[in-house]
Amino acid sequence: MDIISQRFSSVKPSLTKAMTQRATTLQGQGCDIITLSQGEPDFPTPVSICEAGIEAICAGNTKYTAVAGIEPLREAIIEKFSRDNGLNFSTDQVSVGCGAKQVLFNALMVSLNPGDEVIFPTPCWVSYPDMIHLAGGIPVPVSCPPSTGFKITPDLLEAAITNKTKWLMLNSPSNPTGAVYSRAELGALADVLRKHPDVWVLCDDIYEKLVYGDVEFTTLAQIAPDLGDRILTVNGVSKAYAMTGWRVGYGAGPAHLIKAMNTLQGQTTSHTSSISQYAALEALRGSQDFIKAFQSTYQSRRDLVVDRLNRVEGMSCHRPDGAFYVFPDCSGLMNKQTPQGKLIKTDSDLTMYLLEEAGVATVPGSGFLASPFIRISYATSTTDLESACDRIIAACHLLK
Ligand code: PLP
Repeated sequence: MDIISQRFSSVKPSLTKAMTQRATTLQGQGCDIITLSQGEPDFPTPVSICEAGIEAICAGNTKYTAVAGIEPLREAIIEKFSRDNGLNFSTDQVSVGCGAKQVLFNALMVSLNPGDEVIFPTPCWVSYPDMIHLAGGIPVPVSCPPSTGFKITPDLLEAAITNKTKWLMLNSPSNPTGAVYSRAELGALADVLRKHPDVWVLCDDIYEKLVYGDVEFTTLAQIAPDLGDRILTVNGVSKAYAMTGWRVGYGAGPAHLIKAMNTLQGQTTSHTSSISQYAALEALRGSQDFIKAFQSTYQSRRDLVVDRLNRVEGMSCHRPDGAFYVFPDCSGLMNKQTPQGKLIKTDSDLTMYLLEEAGVATVPGSGFLASPFIRISYATSTTDLESACDRIIAACHLLK
């Protein structure tokens, strides 16, 4: 009898992690690989935040904490929501977990009955379908083409809702497309949601701080306060403060949902690291100045990558408003032949070719339920980005 459960057997390893792992293995074998597959800032965690972690250790804050997170951190999260998003929460409406990832998973686990449907626009973050599936729900991907800016429209949403729909998951700015929903777009989705009082909304705002130019970040709970009793707003410190390894994310929403999520967390991980919680407290309460510096660096890197990739015949790259990814359409490169005589039939074939021929690790769009695209992270040094783009241009030029 197989030890692996049926529930688990269809869960796939994260494709982004798999590609990065493959690149690391090749690097270990001495290959010259530039990794553009990772979804994390290349900047170090700011020193003041690291120092807060060290102080927590020295002060003996190294024991179990409250399951929902230490009180001062939950208060800092409440202040953040009020300051940045005009949202008001109390401490029993906030749960801190091991990254936004765990908070999202906790929410799905405590709310989904077998057969409940969860709508999410695609291209989507690789983990949504597997998380939904693991929690017993049915993933309902809604294909959102470049013509909609990769965003779900009111019509697409209306058409996807059934009497089994439990959640709509919205991710803005989006991984992998960088799409950011405007006030008007969120307002139009809110109008649809008002007609369906049983549908809840999970807003994954993890890339909130990474929007560029005049683009303004807004979140659904801010646009539609009347829907607040069925919105869970999720955020975290990983992307904004370059703290991916510290594992701190948080969610805020209706107290009875948060209570259930805390109960689940209490029976699984208990809470995230006490040390990380003190570091996250400093991140949220300390100076926010370096975020501006991160933003301007990312913006110039985005422009560099978009401009260069658009020189590749067969690739078409939009200029995303947020996050740190570009998601070029690679239709024009399909069915071309490599110098080794291999046909590029899918975006997976293309990423494999780019890895082997150009030494550049990217992620196939299929992992984000959209083909033929590839995802390129520009959260890496400008020198590496320049060189990676040049290599991609040269490798694609060889395709016939
Ligand atoms: N949501 C999206 C869309 C992401 O891209 C990620 C990380 O890549 C997360 C959530 C999870 O972030 P973390 O668990 O590090 O807070």
